[in-house]
Amino acid sequence: MPALHVPADRASLDFDVIIVGCGPTGAMLAAELRLHDVRVLVLEKDTEPASFVRIVGLHIRSLELMAMRGLLDRILPHGRRRPAAGFFAAIAKPEPKGLDSAYAYLLGIPQPVIVNLLEEHAIALGAQVRRGCAVAGVEQDDEGVTTTLADGERLRSRYLVGCDGARSTVRKLLGVGFPGEPARTETLMGEMEVGAPPEEVAAKVAEVSETRRPFWLRPFGNGVYSVVVPAAGISDRAEPPTIEDFQQQLRAIAGTDFGVHSPRWLSRFGDATRLAERYRVGRVLLAGDAAHIHPPIGGQGLNLGVQDAVNLGWKLAAQVRGWAPETLLDTYQAERHPVAEDVLDNTRAQVELLSPEPGPQAVRRLLTELMDLDEVNRHLIEKITGIGIRYDFGTGSDLLGRRLRDIAVKQGNLYGLLHGGRGLLLDRTERLTLDGWSDRVDHLADPTAELDVPGVLLRPDGHVAWVGEDQRDLDEHLSRWFGEPAH
Ligand SMILES: Cc1cc2nc3c(=O)[nH]c(=O)nc-3n(C[C@H](O)[C@H](O)[C@H](O)COP(=O)(O)OP(=O)(O)OC[C@H]3O[C@@H](n4cnc5c(N)ncnc54)[C@H](O)[C@@H]3O)c2cc1C
Repeated sequence: MPALHVPADRASLDFDVIIVGCGPTGAMLAAELRLHDVRVLVLEKDTEPASFVRIVGLHIRSLELMAMRGLLDRILPHGRRRPAAGFFAAIAKPEPKGLDSAYAYLLGIPQPVIVNLLEEHAIALGAQVRRGCAVAGVEQDDEGVTTTLADGERLRSRYLVGCDGARSTVRKLLGVGFPGEPARTETLMGEMEVGAPPEEVAAKVAEVSETRRPFWLRPFGNGVYSVVVPAAGISDRAEPPTIEDFQQQLRAIAGTDFGVHSPRWLSRFGDATRLAERYRVGRVLLAGDAAHIHPPIGGQGLNLGVQDAVNLGWKLAAQVRGWAPETLLDTYQAERHPVAEDVLDNTRAQVELLSPEPGPQAVRRLLTELMDLDEVNRHLIEKITGIGIRYDFGTGSDLLGRRLRDIAVKQGNLYGLLHGGRGLLLDRTERLTLDGWSDRVDHLADPTAELDVPGVLLRPDGHVAWVGEDQRDLDEHLSRWFGEPAH
């Protein structure tokens, strides 16, 4: 059947925002935009959601975001909780005590479950998702963006966001540079059943991983393990790895193949590390793997993309709805580019620490010792889990720019008040007012709130935009983040 041709000159813009790619980043962004009644279309080239199951780790900040949007209870039954520890270069150390979060664990969960859930959530909120639509062209002008699909169909929107993964077509069409390092080493990773008894596997893994890395077999339950071995010696990069490749590598490294069989999925990945030079060119933005790639050590890629989406969603919605302060949309790159830079750096460091060379092994031993110091262990865990992030909002209270953990408030818990993606003034003085901003920001006067400051203004992404008790100062900060008052 010939494709329906929608001429670009059809004056009205069909959508406010077109999102390219329905992975975790695109689906989360669509849902965030729908909270603000933005007309959203998601274009996804694959006709069906991914069927292979890759278990990913949702880290603390992402779990908090899910709780902030009322999604966590739907996600938890599909995952497996593990302690928030042992991710940094797979150095086995216990979780630091008293991590500052109500959700201080790692949730191991199949990536397709997260993607399906976020897609369902976005659709339930009113987003349109069209599968089997590969974007081939993107052009922008003063009024909007024209998107051309592979079959020639054209669509118009006011903005477009490329959430189309590491090989992003949108990024290439924009001509945005993607500097960094190409892959130096390759690793095999997969999930499969293991025939050997669990105690035997655990003992052998503990012994071998002292000297050989990357190497692990981690149980996911029901005899299924995540297996990681170096790809060195396994030929033909172009061909997907086989279970025989894993058996061969395991025998070479551990002297046994642990009876691995029945793979769920097998993959090969490199340690290429790249970061987009810009996250925005006019009306077109980039988020998730389209903007940054790095090795999966530490399990941060999906988390980073979902967090990009929550940072961008309300800002782009404000732009579309017409109340965004002039520079608000540019704070997306200003805040998220340095966060990605930091993740790229920590993965570079982790890759070095996994090298079997004597130098990196010595650094690893030293760091392993240092991680016995609670402060060092805590710093690394807070970095990887995203709860240590502090955006630069200027000088002031130590809370400024950080996310606030889920605290008890008189209605129950703080995150329960953030489901709608609006700003929130937490007011222990009970005399602050919102006046012209009450259409964008909620007000909770609660002297009982578990806070040791008089008032806090939270952005829709849960980051602290203001701390204090002075009304005039608050009004200035409301203008900075939420635009002009309504009257
Ligand atoms: C082995 C491995 C293990 C990992 N483990 C973890 C982990 O434990 N924790 C973690 O946080 N991350 C992990 N990651 C990383 C994580 O999988 C990615 O960071 C995540 O999928 C990125 O999400 P995204 O939505 O930005 O991009 P993607 O998931 O790549 O989604 C992009 C979507 O865009 C679509 N698309 C592409 N081009 C077009 C086009 N032209 N038109 C329309 N649609 C298009 C694609 O079909 C796809 O659906 C791992 C990665 C690997 C390889």
